[in-house]
Amino acid sequence: MSPAKGDESMIIVMKPDAVTGDVDNVVERLAEIGAEAHVSVGQVQTVVGAIGDRETIQQLPWEAFAGVERAVPVLKPYKFVSRDFHPDDTVIDVGGVPMGGGHFAAIAGPCAVESRDQLFTAAEAVHKAGAKILRGDAFKPRTSPYSFQGLEEEGLQYLSEAREEFGMPFVAEVLDPRDVDLVASYADLIRVGTRNMANFTLLSELGRQPKPVLLKRGFTATIEEWLNAAEYIYKEGNHRVILCERGIRTFETATRNTLDISAVPVVKGLSHLPIIVDPSHSGGHRELVAPLTRTAVVAGADGFMVDVHHAPETALVDGAQAILPDEFSALMDQVRALASVMNLQL
Ligand code: PEP
Ligand code: MN
Repeated sequence: MSPAKGDESMIIVMKPDAVTGDVDNVVERLAEIGAEAHVSVGQVQTVVGAIGDRETIQQLPWEAFAGVERAVPVLKPYKFVSRDFHPDDTVIDVGGVPMGGGHFAAIAGPCAVESRDQLFTAAEAVHKAGAKILRGDAFKPRTSPYSFQGLEEEGLQYLSEAREEFGMPFVAEVLDPRDVDLVASYADLIRVGTRNMANFTLLSELGRQPKPVLLKRGFTATIEEWLNAAEYIYKEGNHRVILCERGIRTFETATRNTLDISAVPVVKGLSHLPIIVDPSHSGGHRELVAPLTRTAVVAGADGFMVDVHHAPETALVDGAQAILPDEFSALMDQVRALASVMNLQL
């Protein structure tokens, strides 16, 4: 079987002094041979990613073209999300909040929206403490089908009201491709949960809607599988994908999942996309939230997402890992100190 389109690709790296006409010339030649071209203008060099039949692309004497430095094959299974295709960090705007490329953002709020009051109490507190994006889920299928399942559209309405009140964009999860339009009509950032990282129908659907996506790592997924999942969204045309490391399943039982902090620098090397850390769902215990968050900042993450609840003992979902508003505020002081060491803007 011949490889599917996109299985093969090359990158054509332009010289630092290449002019626009040189890049246009490369793009035109690629079009003539039936290859797709994706131009990425970097701070130092422009890179043209070419997807098509590699042999046909390789036959052209690229290094003889004006302004071309070299042409190299991309051997990774993911292309657009790889750093080869886009050498500079991508900065993603989430409802006015920049993330990536030195812009760090704190995302906080309740795991699930339980009532308007509960959400507003958390939103007010996290806003005051310096969080830039609010979290809260309206769709919450649980291990048991008889547990609280979320307020659905009513929850999204409360989140939108909180956005108005506190001037914070919000992130909410979508689980079903049939709910994508509904969630996208309210949320500023749409989250894919760990259990859905490999739901390729959902990922492709999210690639065809306008809101940025926060893609959690599957708890049994390798980094390569995770980047392939991001590629599913990206290749459909939605280039605003943020990755979230949330722990993986290991033999260790002292934590809910093992936070793979190495994933942060590894992903930074492999991909240009922003990556954040979720210390709540990885550790699974409130005592671990602050140390794991501090680690994330110094490991080079572009942000973090944490569960905050004013009365965790009454929380309908994930009370054991929710921190109190005051604890979040103290954590933000530490995050600000570490962010300045890391030269991050927040
Ligand atoms: C969440 O962030 O609320 C959540 C359910 O996370 P995960 O999908 O990582 O378990
Ligand atoms: Mn949760």
